[in-house]
Amino acid sequence: MKRRAFIGTLAASSTASALLNQQAGATAQGPKAAKPMKITLLGTGTPAPSLTRQSSGFLFEVGDALIVMDHGPGAHQRLLESGHRAVDVTHAFFTHLHYDHCMEYDRLVLQRWDQGADKIADLNVYGPPPIKRMTDLLFGDDGVYGPDIRARIQHQSSIDVFKARGGTAPRKRPAPNVREVHPGDVVEGKGWKVTVGKATHVQPYLECLAYRLDGEDGSVCYTGDSGASDEIVELARGCDMLIHMNHYFSGTAPSPAYRAACGNHKDNALTAKRAGVKTLVLTHVLAQIDQPRIREQIVHEIQQVFDGKVVWGEDLTQLTLAGSPIANIEGY
Ligand SMILES: [Zn+2]
Repeated sequence: MKRRAFIGTLAASSTASALLNQQAGATAQGPKAAKPMKITLLGTGTPAPSLTRQSSGFLFEVGDALIVMDHGPGAHQRLLESGHRAVDVTHAFFTHLHYDHCMEYDRLVLQRWDQGADKIADLNVYGPPPIKRMTDLLFGDDGVYGPDIRARIQHQSSIDVFKARGGTAPRKRPAPNVREVHPGDVVEGKGWKVTVGKATHVQPYLECLAYRLDGEDGSVCYTGDSGASDEIVELARGCDMLIHMNHYFSGTAPSPAYRAACGNHKDNALTAKRAGVKTLVLTHVLAQIDQPRIREQIVHEIQQVFDGKVVWGEDLTQLTLAGSPIANIEGY
């Protein structure tokens, strides 16, 4: 079994499993079971270049929505590798506008627009200010992609391709529905709800958010980038899963400011314990800690404090809130 898949099996939560079994039982007797939420880690890296870890990106399949949270460089390639395309994505949430969390926003919007041929709904986008201004500066008439968009709308060859994809001229501009959100805001969909929380990161230069996603089969909190804080503990309280930045080895921060903005693995252990989550998923991993023995030491030290499950996140790790049962040993 691949290590990624094996680690995924460790995410089993007995309570969530029981809930899932109850729902499966309910199906046989009539009421329809909720489709389990599926989570794919698209990018578990940092701003540092890496061939194994792309920058931040997470995919949540919940109800009839396909939600991405953050879309840093490389995350879109991982989206394709996960079996989805830009046109499948219905909602995009951004925690903050550091480039390693938003640099492929343009790719997501433009490929969705181009391939969607005006046959799909506009993308719903949520994030802190200035996400609206960023959107205008990218896709507006005078924006970075203004000339490209104009050419694709007006040149006959592009119109022909657009029609071949099923579009009806005149072609519309890409127009994501952008809503700027702040801590305390709530976004609701069919069978899911996102609550916006505050991350502690690089304020006041960037507003930094965290998100809690509640679905019918449980809850997951994604902190974005954050050091330890009471706000994160409250947002994540009781979640089945906490996806948390785990940037570096505790004790090696170059300054107190760095630790306050990024936290460390011992801070994360305490956050997970205080919040009472069932599974802690570690992401935003620097090469410093992404090595044999170091990663096992980190997981071990976290488990000295936090008695839930710990998942060492990898790009394309797939998780459910219920985890996966341990399979029987196969005979030969
Ligand atoms: Zn950041």
